[in-house]
Amino acid sequence: MPELPEVEVVRLGLAPAATGARVDAVEVRDERSLRRHPGPAEDFVTRLRGARLGSPERRGKYLWVPLADPAGAPVALVIHLGMSGQVLLRTPGSPVDRLTRIVLGVTHPDAGPLRVDFVDQRIFGSMALDDLVPAVDAPAQLIPSSVAHIARDPVDPLFDDRRFLARLLRKDTTIKRALLDQTLVSGIGNIYADEALWAARVHYDQPTRSLSRPRASALLAEVRLVLGRALAEGGTSFDAQYLNVNGESGYFAHSLKAYGRAGLPCPRCGRPIVRESFMNRGSHFCPRCQRVRVRSTAA
Ligand SMILES: [Zn+2]
Repeated sequence: MPELPEVEVVRLGLAPAATGARVDAVEVRDERSLRRHPGPAEDFVTRLRGARLGSPERRGKYLWVPLADPAGAPVALVIHLGMSGQVLLRTPGSPVDRLTRIVLGVTHPDAGPLRVDFVDQRIFGSMALDDLVPAVDAPAQLIPSSVAHIARDPVDPLFDDRRFLARLLRKDTTIKRALLDQTLVSGIGNIYADEALWAARVHYDQPTRSLSRPRASALLAEVRLVLGRALAEGGTSFDAQYLNVNGESGYFAHSLKAYGRAGLPCPRCGRPIVRESFMNRGSHFCPRCQRVRVRSTAA
């Protein structure tokens, strides 16, 4: 499942082709990929055709392209990658993959005509037009209404560390659930949560209210490091002709310390990493380095 670093790779790849381009043609090959669009396919097609695209933006794993100078209220093309969605840049006339659901023909002022193919094997992803609304914490910034409830991600320049830590430590939950709660902080999926918890030596089931502020702050720093490393590696595998988001190959697999390493030695202490079921998935952790800590009443 694409997470923040994989979606950022798509955004970076799409940006030079989309920004300033005009949409000449819209072909919906499978209407199921418009399930999040608030209207029929004709509405999607007529509103998008002729529009000029702005610079792609991202929050967490949510990606959108604002339409420049729309006739009415500000609108964006929201691209949900879902489980298996891909955005592929193609030259016009090249073969269309059979799993392609939506095809946009665009003309870029410098690059000329291009094709943007939305390919999605499992159809959990979608494209939709959505109204842009002011961000709650920064009204000058516009965000799709469907993304407005998603918290900022930790690599967002406007992410508020103090507010996040205060909300985190007040929450009556456990730490990994909190990290995966997209209304508290976005962009952290199962893999990056396990990796950051391992790096900060925090057990995934540690109650948030029992975390000290310094430990929570150290964990946030590890989250940023893990995301930063994944972003850097995602960037190195970037191919301008094939913006692949396939759920597995984009991950920095050789850098993983805990995720997917059940039974293998902890890189820090050598004790085998353990996998436990968690929210229909798994949590990977070192039973020696990551123990649930109970704070003394004096603390
Ligand atoms: Zn260990």
